[in-house]
Amino acid sequence: NVRVRFAPSPTGPLHIGGVRTALFNYLFAKKHNGTFVLRIEDTDQTRYVANAEQYIIDSLEWCNIPFDEGPGKNEKFGPYRQSERKDLYKKYADQLIESGWAYYAFDTAEELDAHRKDHEEKGKTFIYNWHNREKGRLVNSLVLSKEEVAAKISAGEKYVIRFKTPQDETLILQDEIRGTIKVETNTLDDKVLFKSDGMPTYHLANIVDDHLMEISHVIRGEEWLPSLPLHELLYRAFDWKAPKFAHLPLILKPVGKGKLSKRDGDKLGFPVFPLEYTNEQTGDVSRGYKEDGYFADAFINMLAFLGWNPGTEQEIFSLEELTEAFDLARVSKSGAKFSPDKTKWFNQQYLQQKSNEELTALFLPILEKKGIITDKDQAEKIVSLIKERATFVADFWELSSFFFKNPSEYDAKAVKKQWKDTTSELMQELVEVISKIEDFSIENTETEIKGWITSKEIGFGKVMQPLRLSLVGKLAGPDLFDIMTMIGKETTITRIQNAIK
Ligand code: GLU
Repeated sequence: NVRVRFAPSPTGPLHIGGVRTALFNYLFAKKHNGTFVLRIEDTDQTRYVANAEQYIIDSLEWCNIPFDEGPGKNEKFGPYRQSERKDLYKKYADQLIESGWAYYAFDTAEELDAHRKDHEEKGKTFIYNWHNREKGRLVNSLVLSKEEVAAKISAGEKYVIRFKTPQDETLILQDEIRGTIKVETNTLDDKVLFKSDGMPTYHLANIVDDHLMEISHVIRGEEWLPSLPLHELLYRAFDWKAPKFAHLPLILKPVGKGKLSKRDGDKLGFPVFPLEYTNEQTGDVSRGYKEDGYFADAFINMLAFLGWNPGTEQEIFSLEELTEAFDLARVSKSGAKFSPDKTKWFNQQYLQQKSNEELTALFLPILEKKGIITDKDQAEKIVSLIKERATFVADFWELSSFFFKNPSEYDAKAVKKQWKDTTSELMQELVEVISKIEDFSIENTETEIKGWITSKEIGFGKVMQPLRLSLVGKLAGPDLFDIMTMIGKETTITRIQNAIK
C-alpha cells in the first residue's frame, strides 16, 4: 500500500524544487495506485509565513497534481498541520527518554557557543555526542542526578531533549536512488528532538507523523540526505518499521555552479515559482510561471525531466504518460541543470498541440483589451495561421496585429532594400489587378496575381516583398494570400496605397 507525502514548511512560496518534489511524489503515488498526502510542517513558528500554505495548495492545484489527503481533504490521518498536532509529540519524546534513547540537556546557547569556540581554537569541531556529553562541561541528564534534572525542570529552566546517538557504529543505509550509504555514528550530533517551548523539532515531528500517517516511501530533496542517519536511528529507537527513502538530486543553476536559489530567478530573469507570489511583509512580487504565460502541463513536463528521464528519446509526456513511465530507478543521483530555454521550448511544443479553439479562447480577452472587435471564427483562423511561430499566447498579438490594424510604420531597412524606384508604379498596377479580382478567395487571388507577375516577366520577389511590406509593415508573417483574404480586398488595396504614399 503506497502512501507518500509532500511535507513542505510554510516559510514562503514554493519554488521549482518544491514543486518537483511534489510532482515526483504524485507520480509515484499514482503509478502504484497509492495515496499522495500533503502535510504542513509548521513547527518552526519563527519562520512561519501566513499565506504560504494557501500558496502551496494553489500551486499544486494549478499544476494539476492535487493531494489526496491533507488539510481540509479526506482527513483520515489528520490533522495534517503539525502545529495542530503539537500535543501529540511530547509523549514520543518522553518515550525515548524512558527507553534511554534520548536525554534532557540544559546547556544555554552561550555555553554551546563557548564550547564551539574552545574546540575551534584547538582546530577541532565540536560535536554534541558520546565524545563529550558525559564529560566536560555539558549539562544534561546523563551527568545530573534524577533529582537535579527534576529540580531544573520544575524551576522552569530551559531544556531541550536530545537524541542519544549510538557510539562507534557504522550505519548501512539504503536509498532508492543512491543505493547503499555508509555513515559513522561518531560523526553525528545528538540532534535536538524537542524544546521546552513544547514544540518538537522537524526531526521528531517528521518521523512521528510519517509513522502515524503510515507513509511507505519518503521522497524528498537531496538536502535532507544528511538527516537520513538520524531518521533511520529514530525508527530503530521507536521500534517502528522505517519507510523506504529516496533523495532527489539537486536542481542546479542554469549557468555557473551550484544549487538554483530562489533569488536566481530575479537575477537571471526567469520565474522560479509556479504562481506569482506577494510577500506580505515587503510587498515584493515574484513572478510565476502561470502569469508568465506557461501552460501547466508544459511546466510539469519540464519539471519531470529535472532529474528523471524515460530512457528513450521521447520528451513530450502528458501527466498520464508521466505517471505510466515514472520510475525511481530512472531518477539520477547527480544534480539536474535547470534550463529556462528548455522550459520555453516545452511551452512552445505544448502550444502547437493545443487546439485552435482553446488558444482562441485565450487570445480573445487579449484582443478585447486592445479594443479590437472580432468574431470568434476570424480569431480562430488567425490563430491557426500564426501559432507555429508562437511560444506563448502572449506572442499572438505581436504576430497578428497586422490582421486587425493597418501598419503604422514600415521596417526602414527592408524598405530600403525592397522598395526600388520602379516599385511604386508596379504597386499601382497591382492595385488595379486586385480591384478587378471578383472572387477574392485564396486560390483565385493567388492565380490572378501570380499570373499577372508572370506576364510581366519579372521576379516574384519584386512584387511579393513590397506587397508584404505594404500589408504587414515588415518582412514577416504568414502566407500573403492568407493575409489578403483575411483582411479583404478593400483593406488590401488601402494598405498598398498607403505604402505607395
Ligand atoms: N519540512 C521539510 C521541508 O520543508 C520536509 C522534509 C522531508 O520531506 O522530510 O522540506
